[in-house]
Amino acid sequence: MKIGVIGGGQLGRMLALAGTPLGMDFAFLDPAPDACAAALGEHIRADYGDQDHLRQLADEVDLVTFEFESVPAETVAFLSQFVPVYPSAESLRIARDRWFEKSLFRSLGIPTPEFANIHSQVDLDAAVAEIGLPAVLKTRTLGYDGKGQKVLRQPADVAGAFAELGSVPCILEGFVPFSGEVSLIAVRGRDGETRFYPLVHNTHESGILRLSVASSGHPLQALAEDYVGRVLEKLDYVGVLAFEFFEVDGGLKANEIAPRVHNSGHWTIEGAECGQFENHLRAVAGLPLGSTAKVGESAMLNFIGQVPPLDRLAAVADCHPHHYGKAFKAGRKVGHATLRSKDLPTLEARIREVEALIAGN
Ligand code: AMP
Repeated sequence: MKIGVIGGGQLGRMLALAGTPLGMDFAFLDPAPDACAAALGEHIRADYGDQDHLRQLADEVDLVTFEFESVPAETVAFLSQFVPVYPSAESLRIARDRWFEKSLFRSLGIPTPEFANIHSQVDLDAAVAEIGLPAVLKTRTLGYDGKGQKVLRQPADVAGAFAELGSVPCILEGFVPFSGEVSLIAVRGRDGETRFYPLVHNTHESGILRLSVASSGHPLQALAEDYVGRVLEKLDYVGVLAFEFFEVDGGLKANEIAPRVHNSGHWTIEGAECGQFENHLRAVAGLPLGSTAKVGESAMLNFIGQVPPLDRLAAVADCHPHHYGKAFKAGRKVGHATLRSKDLPTLEARIREVEALIAGN
């Protein structure tokens, strides 16, 4: 079976690493000459709107999936004429736009921060009067890793904020005084079979994920599964979906969904019986899903900008480094490590060891 992937970054690369043992071949469509997934499959180097190359991809593969959600809707619609596309065009349309996704959560009774649709500075002023400060202004589309958003703390931050984000459609969200951030990675097969990984506790710095720790018996697991299950059913979703929540007042408020494999699920490669990349491929290929059970305790640390020396990482017990083969650049995700252990104190100690290596010590 040959899988077409829109995007050729590290997520595509890890999909191919998981799918190759299943006998799958891969073709990646990505305009970047240095797309890091290209080492593991065919690289169709073309823009996402290039219909000739999209047609070539559709002709070559059995199905198409995505490693990022900011794909133009027309690209998905075009491909869908010729080849099965998972997740569906509708799932992508919702998940790539913060207004659509938050409106979906609201319609399904899933708690969210207060939010308003913003098309102008006048809209913003009115929404701030209603929602209050602090609040977060976010572009509806194309935001990632904290980009395309601005925290508004005082009235002076509001003036000109719409223009600062590029005068594009935005949403304003009430600022959530969260006690933690968690994500639930779910997978749903073509036949509707659904599985959930354990909730993951995430730590961000400057909007970029640094550390994910998989939980055991989290008290909010059942509630999170209920909320995520509602979205999966509504969208008749196929594949892996990541759902990010704020933990607040002992409950959950929905932040956002990603219709794809997700950074907070990378620990599952070594830390779960079947990792998110393999399970995404099983789902889109119509295969039975693999077990999402955890193997001991697990955490994931991101490498931002550069990868610590491999000999030092390899010396840490049960540490599994992943090097994405990308050029090192400040603020860029260039690798990660999964850390495992039998118990939490040992896991904590290993996290501190690798954090010291990341800090250059
Ligand atoms: P996002 O791109 O929406 O995931 O936002 C990036 C990060 O900004 C989140 O992981 C939070 O740490 C923070 N953030 C986003 N929205 C809010 C909010 N409404 N209230 C408080 N913090 C937020």
